[in-house]
Amino acid sequence: MTSKDLEPLAFVDLKAQYAQLKSRIDANIATVLDHGKFILGPEVAEFEHALSGFTGSKHVITVASGTDALQIALLAEGIGPGDAVFLPAFTFTATAGVVVQCGAEPVFCDITASDFAIDIESLTHQIEKVEDEGRLRPRAVIAVDLFGLPADYNGLHRLANEKDLFLLADAAQSFGATYHNRKVGTLAPATATSFFPAKPLGCYGDGGALFCDDDARAALIRSIRSHGQGSAKYDVARFGCNSRLDTLQAAILIAKLEVFEDELVRRREVAEQYDRALAETSLVRPERFASKISAWAQYTVLLNDRDKVAADLKQVGVPTAIYYPKPMHEQPAYKQFSEGVGSLPVSEELSKRVLSLPFHPYMDEGAISRTVDALICASSTR
Ligand SMILES: *Cc1c(COP(=O)(O)O)cnc(C)c1O
Repeated sequence: MTSKDLEPLAFVDLKAQYAQLKSRIDANIATVLDHGKFILGPEVAEFEHALSGFTGSKHVITVASGTDALQIALLAEGIGPGDAVFLPAFTFTATAGVVVQCGAEPVFCDITASDFAIDIESLTHQIEKVEDEGRLRPRAVIAVDLFGLPADYNGLHRLANEKDLFLLADAAQSFGATYHNRKVGTLAPATATSFFPAKPLGCYGDGGALFCDDDARAALIRSIRSHGQGSAKYDVARFGCNSRLDTLQAAILIAKLEVFEDELVRRREVAEQYDRALAETSLVRPERFASKISAWAQYTVLLNDRDKVAADLKQVGVPTAIYYPKPMHEQPAYKQFSEGVGSLPVSEELSKRVLSLPFHPYMDEGAISRTVDALICASSTR
């Protein structure tokens, strides 16, 4: 039998996870159906409490998506028209979209190739440019922990303090990661994460959360997520939105959080298995940092003939993904905020070379070696 005849592999295998957790998840869902408190039911507070214990963050406020978490953090900071928000161009569109939704302007920065995170030198350069132009007020920087690896928060804190910028962590992909032994959720004044199904901790729909230590910020975020509610139910203290995590999703996430540490260990093992199997090849593998433990949302390699390799892998039932084929400054929607092709060379080059391999904590050795064999075969027959 050739590999052509095999069943395609799963890129992320949520069914395997459900098979393991079925009894707990089903019981938690049944409990919610019984009590019927579908909006801000007891599971939401219970899950927020569990997240607080997991991360060490004083406050956790769950919301309807990772995108909403980012936007609510910016709104709570009072960011709006006339403000510049700095962020890496090599990210998912939500990181930039929320800035525009708030009426502020995204200023795209380049990334460093070793960790796919915002390059402090490029960030410094862009801040100074905005200062010199004088049209916008530098207000915030959004750090993105791409593929699960935390950005360089020490460097970011230093620069944010010096320039009086609000530092927001887009940890949509890095929930569960650590930086200098501190958990994601505690690395910035505010952290946003996502529970989109394919993220390291995912629910069965959309969901997200915000983490912060400041009491006033937490109260503001809680108010904004519920229509700007004041101290009484129908007091409207400010403008807000409707962005609560569904009780059903919280119930599912409670069951998933119980095994999350084990899954993180498994994710690290799968990454190490990929490392070993690819050690002899000339592919560029993910770099390791003594100060960081990745949540391993993705295992992403760099290839010079990426598109051909991806097509060959697909032929033999090995799915891959490209995060992201175009940096944001090359996207039509952000044209007015872009300095054009050539302005952010590292983001541009990596967008042509990245390829993320099938990756999930329930992946067995057979699936890993099948992926690696197909990859070696595809990239050597160029
Ligand atoms: C997934 C993701 C988001 C958005 O999260 P949603 O829950 O899908 O809204 C934001 N930023 C990054 C980097 C992401 O990967």
